Amino acid sequence: MPRATPHRRARTKAPRPAARQPKYVYSFANGKADGSSALRHLLGGKGCELAEMTNLGVPVPPGFTITTDAWAGYSSGGRKHPAGLWGQVLAGMARLEAAVGLKLGDAAKPLLVSVRSGARASMPGMMDTVLNLGLNDRTVIGLARWTKNERFAWDCYRRFITIFSDVALGIERRAFEDLLDRAKAAAHAKTDADLQAEPLKALVAEFKRLVQARTGQPFPQDPPEQLKLAVNAVFDSWVAKKAVDYRRIHRLPDDWGTAVTVMAMVFGNLGERSGTGVCFTRDPSSGERRFFGEFLINAQGEDVVAGIRTPQPIATLKDSMPDVYDELVAIKDRLERHYHDMQDIEFTVQEGRLFILQTRSGKRTAAAAVRIAVEMVREGLFDDRRVKNASERRDTAIHTALQRVEPASLNQLLVKTVDPRAQYTPIARGLAATPAAAVGKVVFDPEKAVEMALREEHVILVRHETSPEDVAGMHAAQGVLTSRGGLTSHAAVVARGWGKSCVVGAGDVIVEEEQGLFRAGRTVVREGQVVTLNGATGEVVMGALPLVDPKLSAEFRQLLDWARAASTTKVRANADTPADASKAREFEAEGIGLVRTEHMFFKEDRIPIVREMIMARDEQARRKAVDRLLPFQREDFIGIFTAMNGFPVTIRLLDPPLHEFLPSYREVLEEYTRLDALGINPARHQELGAIKARIEALVEANPMLGHRGCRLGITFPEIYEMQVRAIMEAACEVAKRGVQVKPPEIMIPLTGTVAEMKFTRDMTVRMADKTVGEMGVKVGYSVGTMIEVPRAALIADKLADHADFFSFGTNDLTQMTFGYSRDDIGKFLPFYLERKVLTDDPFAVLDQEGVGELIRIGIERGRRTKKDLKVGICGEHGGEPASVEFCHRVGMDYVSCSPYMVPIAWLASAQAQIKEPRRAARPRSAVRRKRHA
Ligand code: PEP
Ligand code: MG
Repeated sequence: MPRATPHRRARTKAPRPAARQPKYVYSFANGKADGSSALRHLLGGKGCELAEMTNLGVPVPPGFTITTDAWAGYSSGGRKHPAGLWGQVLAGMARLEAAVGLKLGDAAKPLLVSVRSGARASMPGMMDTVLNLGLNDRTVIGLARWTKNERFAWDCYRRFITIFSDVALGIERRAFEDLLDRAKAAAHAKTDADLQAEPLKALVAEFKRLVQARTGQPFPQDPPEQLKLAVNAVFDSWVAKKAVDYRRIHRLPDDWGTAVTVMAMVFGNLGERSGTGVCFTRDPSSGERRFFGEFLINAQGEDVVAGIRTPQPIATLKDSMPDVYDELVAIKDRLERHYHDMQDIEFTVQEGRLFILQTRSGKRTAAAAVRIAVEMVREGLFDDRRVKNASERRDTAIHTALQRVEPASLNQLLVKTVDPRAQYTPIARGLAATPAAAVGKVVFDPEKAVEMALREEHVILVRHETSPEDVAGMHAAQGVLTSRGGLTSHAAVVARGWGKSCVVGAGDVIVEEEQGLFRAGRTVVREGQVVTLNGATGEVVMGALPLVDPKLSAEFRQLLDWARAASTTKVRANADTPADASKAREFEAEGIGLVRTEHMFFKEDRIPIVREMIMARDEQARRKAVDRLLPFQREDFIGIFTAMNGFPVTIRLLDPPLHEFLPSYREVLEEYTRLDALGINPARHQELGAIKARIEALVEANPMLGHRGCRLGITFPEIYEMQVRAIMEAACEVAKRGVQVKPPEIMIPLTGTVAEMKFTRDMTVRMADKTVGEMGVKVGYSVGTMIEVPRAALIADKLADHADFFSFGTNDLTQMTFGYSRDDIGKFLPFYLERKVLTDDPFAVLDQEGVGELIRIGIERGRRTKKDLKVGICGEHGGEPASVEFCHRVGMDYVSCSPYMVPIAWLASAQAQIKEPRRAARPRSAVRRKRHA
């Protein structure tokens, strides 16, 4: 920057801070800083790294940072500065002036400063910044003379008035930009840079008139006053709507506040040997180790952001200013080594001299995060030289790599997603049930979805809600959209298991199936029109957005291997078919934690038999139907055991509300009434009459609390008996074929009393022993229970007398603990989240305080009875990172989640172990190994 001889001036001479005042201002200048990276909470990301870089000897323009404590005092004190703050700011300014040898407001050689926001976490573009502060009608003339560049000085002044008026005086930027556009048109200037000094002077005069007209005051001419207004404006920008929204979305606390950094301006717009740019130490999109960035000659930072001119690739700097380029390369390498992470660096070149204005950990795609983490281990960047033992050093480096990747971000790598560069406005929003995106033609009828899929058309199935009847249509569709239901509704659970795109509970979507359309606000979408579902955000978009394919790179596999090795809480998958089981193994699931056997009945050829079973008038008729289901079940279990090849499989006996398997009551009633009126087809009429009566008998006011789970198995024992037989026959058959098979873990759903547990266990043991005896193969089994009813958690010690393992079914446990219906929460959840009545959807993120307490109690009491009781979770929370961490902390042996979530759960589990180490998973002595002669 231009330098001048320091001289004294009363205005900015600061009083000494009183002895007991907190330190509000931290200076950095010429290789020495008060702060460092360690003070991120006080100085914000920008401020603390400027201090750190200054101490490292990186060329940073001098300045000072006002702490977040000062912000806290200001905001709690009714927007008044806490005592002593302004004195410390003036003292900081005096140090800054001394460091650069210039004075704020000096008529001959004025110091100009930038005033920047800076929160603890980066909130890009969400808060305010003021550049070129210190210019007024006098200093602009001084700056023009001193730099011998009149155009430059007036250009800085018009920029300053625009930005300052916008940020500190509340006059929208657009008003100034309109005047600028008019001035450019009048001067026949194509770009801002073509506007010369005289028109710029006239423009400044117009700008000042605009300020006078809008505020009733002249544009502030006094630099210290400008500074005070700018600092206050940056403080206030913490509560601007966009910043508040950003924090809500990114879950950042509102009480962090922002720091304010005041820095000497350096100018990238001083001519052809000046410029400004942004660079990354690696490619933020692919993670490739290559210097990546952009640079604009003769420009200020805002020109890059505004996109007025197209920046050049960073490599061109090598040709135009080779020395600067070499220095930048050396600095970026040094910063990456120092921070052990990919850096995003802002820099300015002023007349051939390089200044670094900011460095931070660069934002990156999930693919880049994985590649960078793995490659940095290989490059030794995470090696802690103080650790002498080589293998210990490598372990620590791997742990660092594992912590560098956000588990949830792995979603992006496992399913098709919307291209992040796509621009769009959604027509509706629902709950984001799966991370996948899909494009297809809208269809309302599941059968039609199947037909169209057979013609290789891509379809999106749109329903009020789904039921088991719709499963074929759901499977055929690329994505599913429902207007009702929550994150554990039928549609969400089923789609998640398949990794299929799904948006549920989109309250704005009004489905008018008979008209063949749905409405979303004013938009009417007809059958056959193309929409995109963004399952990751819950957005519904008209038309086809570009999608990107998942990539499983070698680095991804490596990271997954490291995660598995580091974890003590193992990961299993919820899988219902042999295909799911293979997918689970592909993602390294170490077993299946939940086979929902009712999902095995959803296939078209099985539903009629299930219906027969339900319609049966007596036990004998029911047994007949059940016997016809047995071969199907056995075949599926054979497929699953074979795919799992020696890994454990937990099979849950049937647990659906029975009426879900019956045809739609409305359709039956319509047909029945029609035949009744016409008096035709008496046989069909009679059949429909029986179905109608059965549906009426089965319908429940609260099916979720009704005749399901073990209640069904106890009232219709032949169903569970058939399932146990099918499981054990399959296990014996697989063993006979020489495939390894772990003793099946047979799981009873929804138990709430000891009598229920005892009854179902006795029945299971009886049937399993009988079957194994008949098969003549030595295969063991164990019998455990799901803990889904709060009462079960409370009497876990007693249940454990009869259960070999527990698996927490946190979908039902959440439903019953909160009393929120799984299927109806969509009605009020968006409002609750918006108003912060709930911080998260409890069906997505485990409620550790309430449901978690029941889990703690359940584990503690269960293990009081059986020290080695194996415990897992199989609700949808099993793949959610914060919930996985909780499961680790409370001592679960495994978590189980949909196959597509398995890598996420592994990484979350590894991170939990690194954060809170636990001894290796408990021995599996709880598994009962029965031997049969
Ligand atoms: C549960 O309740 O958490 C569970 C896994 O069972 P389902 O979702 O099938 O009720
Ligand atoms: Mg359940």
